[in-house]
Amino acid sequence: MESVKQPCECSTLDDFAVVGMGDSEGRDQKIFSTLVEVANHDGIAWWLYASRCSGCGQDWMVAQEERIHDNFYLKRLSFAEMKMIVEQDAWPPDFLRFEDVIRLGPDHKQVARFLDINDLTDTVKELIEARSDISVSEIAYLFVFSENEAKKLMDRAAVMSWKQLRPFA
Ligand SMILES: [Zn+2]
Repeated sequence: MESVKQPCECSTLDDFAVVGMGDSEGRDQKIFSTLVEVANHDGIAWWLYASRCSGCGQDWMVAQEERIHDNFYLKRLSFAEMKMIVEQDAWPPDFLRFEDVIRLGPDHKQVARFLDINDLTDTVKELIEARSDISVSEIAYLFVFSENEAKKLMDRAAVMSWKQLRPFA
């Protein structure tokens, strides 16, 4: 069957967009149906890649945050920015730190709630190791916890080893 060329969904987005995974109207599927991955971050930023729209040719940087708040974050890229990524693995700073990526959920009021907050102990430990002066209120904000919950989880993260938290990693 010959495919009919349709206007892409990506052209309806602002320069920065938050898109929930498994959106009830299938918005994420529509957007990503025309986006083709061009590069992914070679380093520690496993959530980060860059794609080009096969419909309109627009380049996007995408952070796929599927561990905490289950959102895609898309930032429109200029041709020059995409060139830097492809040729030099040099990425705009917006999505390079996992803490900054997680924060985009609460910043834009698109967050997940967890039944068992202990499931997040390993991510809390990861954030503390990345930035040892991260505060209880910052952790509370990132994960949408009370400060009490955040404090408990940080204490738990401090006493548990990586072997206990991620035995199969
Ligand atoms: Zn497009």
